[in-house]
Amino acid sequence: VWITFEGGDGVGKTTQARLLEDWLAAEGRTVVRTREPGGSDVGQLIRDIVLHHRGDIAPRAEALLYAADRAHHVRAVVRPALERGEVVIQDRYLDSSVAYQGAGRVLDADEVRDLSLWAAEGALPDVTVLLDLDPAAARARLDADDKPFDRLEAEKEDFHRRVREAFLALAAAEPERFLVVDAARSPETLAEAIRARIAPLL
Ligand code: C5P
Ligand code: MG
Repeated sequence: VWITFEGGDGVGKTTQARLLEDWLAAEGRTVVRTREPGGSDVGQLIRDIVLHHRGDIAPRAEALLYAADRAHHVRAVVRPALERGEVVIQDRYLDSSVAYQGAGRVLDADEVRDLSLWAAEGALPDVTVLLDLDPAAARARLDADDKPFDRLEAEKEDFHRRVREAFLALAAAEPERFLVVDAARSPETLAEAIRARIAPLL
């Protein structure tokens, strides 16, 4: 079983991934927690490039680096874990590329999706949890947690609104794969809704 978490910066993806991991572990499942970019040894190097060269990297080069990270990650980490019968819980996957590199910027969203699918050899998760939150609320949350704004500081507010809309459009196009939750609700309420969606798959 392969579960990905998606949504803008500061919506609580990492918190929910951790709560889901704790529950699955208590259920006796072996869980691999991973992320993109940076979920493999090679990917960590790519993560350093894309995060440290934001804004000064050609958009197509950036999209290709995310795709390269994904191609290696799926091959080296995700597929082997799924073949061992383990549960993979992943922070961000190709929907993030479509939302950020595609709709968020100058590239065509469909082209970014095709590139991502090619890189991933067509692999799609069983469930994608979209944590939907107003970017202003996400920013306030990062602020309160004393976390770096990262992209929220670097990019215009409008960028984050486009990213949010792109995620919602992706979810609307694939309602069977996506679980959309209102990330403004309490972490425990969200965790319960997510568990209810995952339980039948175990
Ligand atoms: O979620 P995480 O903190 O790992 O993401 C790192 C940064 O990379 C975030 O600010 C996110 O906006 C950005 N990102 C991106 N395109 C992706 C994945 C992440 O711009 N495909
Ligand atoms: Mg996070």
